[in-house]
Amino acid sequence: MLATRSAGKLRELEPLLSQHGWAAVTLESLGVPATASEEALESFSTFEENALAKARHFATLTGRVVVADDSGLSVAALDGRPGVHSKRWSGSHLEGAALDALNNAFLQERLADAERRGRVSREAAYVCAAACVWPGGAVCVLGETRGQLLHEPRGVGGFGYDPYFFSHDLQATFAEVERDRKAEVSHRGRAFRALFDELEGFFRQPVDRGAQSG
Ligand code: IMP
Repeated sequence: MLATRSAGKLRELEPLLSQHGWAAVTLESLGVPATASEEALESFSTFEENALAKARHFATLTGRVVVADDSGLSVAALDGRPGVHSKRWSGSHLEGAALDALNNAFLQERLADAERRGRVSREAAYVCAAACVWPGGAVCVLGETRGQLLHEPRGVGGFGYDPYFFSHDLQATFAEVERDRKAEVSHRGRAFRALFDELEGFFRQPVDRGAQSG
């Protein structure tokens, strides 16, 4: 089960899962109701702890193998902020495009502040921790991708901070490229490919050995 209610993340994760031959059910398709305490699950100071807490919570609630992630933007001139606070950085409790617009306006204000204090670098990294929890086990891996934060947005794809994030790998913003191209180099793509490789070790090996021997 994929433990996310973010439409942007779901759009990116579903193709990554299917490329590895995995199919996932979602919180929504299982009818798991959203609760006020859900965001409190992500109250730790690291992406790994938050991703594992989210996966553990829903594994206990549903009895399923649960995959969850926690991700965010880490800005060099802001000493790594907003980091684990990326989603609610602007203080808004809105969701979707309205939330993204407020966060991006806040990002530009903070970068302008930093610049006035002599911190002129606009280097940033997106970081993603991808976790899986199942009865009797857990695994968590990190993925990262680097870029530069532009002054003006470019492109209409992606979500969150993507229109301002100019990827060093792609030489374009994450909002200017197709979803598959973003996934090839993105923090989420890197983290989930590494996670699925590890999971194949845990879940596939006994089946493959059986097939080979018999
Ligand atoms: P969470 O992982 O649901 O806690 O939220 C992470 C937040 O980080 C999102 O709401 C976005 O603001 C930001 N973020 C994480 N990954 C991306 C991405 O791929 N593109 C744009 N923003 C992202």
